[in-house]
Amino acid sequence: PEVARLIAAGEVVSRPLDVVRELVDNALDAGATRIEIELEGGGLSLVRVRDNGGGIGADSVELAAVRHATSKLEPVAGAVERVTTLGFRGEALWAAAQAGELHLVTRPAAQVGAAEVWAQGETVRMGRAAAPAGTTVTVRGLFAGLPARLRTQAPPAAELREITALVGRYVLHHPALHWRLGVDGEARLVHAPADHRGAVASVYGPLNANRVLKVEAGGTVGVCGVVSRPELTRARRDRMHFSVNGRPILAPPELERAVIEGYAELLPAGAAPLCVLDLTVAPADHNPNVHPAKQVVALADLGGVAARVREAVAAALAQHPL
Ligand code: ADP
Ligand code: MG
Repeated sequence: PEVARLIAAGEVVSRPLDVVRELVDNALDAGATRIEIELEGGGLSLVRVRDNGGGIGADSVELAAVRHATSKLEPVAGAVERVTTLGFRGEALWAAAQAGELHLVTRPAAQVGAAEVWAQGETVRMGRAAAPAGTTVTVRGLFAGLPARLRTQAPPAAELREITALVGRYVLHHPALHWRLGVDGEARLVHAPADHRGAVASVYGPLNANRVLKVEAGGTVGVCGVVSRPELTRARRDRMHFSVNGRPILAPPELERAVIEGYAELLPAGAAPLCVLDLTVAPADHNPNVHPAKQVVALADLGGVAARVREAVAAALAQHPL
């Protein structure tokens, strides 16, 4: 059972990046408008995510790090199919507490005083504290007790690169929030509320932000965001970003191709543009019940969505004299 528990936890949290993703998802689910991430030692020594969201009420905070305890699903049939939150399995905080030392301080705005939780392995301790409204979760000593897991970790610099890219994607898809990523006490990525263009400026610099065009298309599939002017291209598709109903996804090649086709002959062969596209589809067309860590999306009508994306990109390019 001990081994089974660690394997299950390892499927949710296998590296520092997983902790960052799960804690930021929780902050977004909590309706935060300000999310601050702090890392030390490539995330292995410390990951801290502070948010100003709704917090966890005193009555349920004890359950926060208990496996399968989630406040996000009604216990009814079909609830998973209709879920609109990023999390719904109730495993992330639990898994983080199996992988390291979890500390959580939380206060709903209307509550006097904050609650504090320490969790590690099967042990959970509660306390009281003073804290601003919102939640701060800290995970220390990731895999310190799991030498085999520790040995297979990427070097801190490599992990930090990927975490920075991940936070960049969050900024691009949630540009209306305050974001800060600090690494060993130094700011690595800071963003104040803006539109998609402003997010491109924060992540890729103002020069690139000056070369993006707005995409805005409604209908059964909403397509909102920015695409770069044709001259701003890369050989790799690493600056193409998509979300579906608020969830950043690993774009299926069909969607990347649809964007490129939207440029028609404007793009050099083999080139990829920069794009940030937030797609809105009817809940029935979208199944979020796939492994969240893989950021895979199941779109019922991928071909139809791709066609809307192609049209929206073509329309954006046609609207602007190039
Ligand atoms: P899930 O997100 O799948 O519900 P988690 O293990 O990530 O599971 O979190 C467990 C529960 O703790 C959540 O359902 C939520 O009620 C609460 N929680 C966790 N993080 C936060 C946060 N930052 N703000 C408010 N509530 C939170
Ligand atoms: Mg969660």
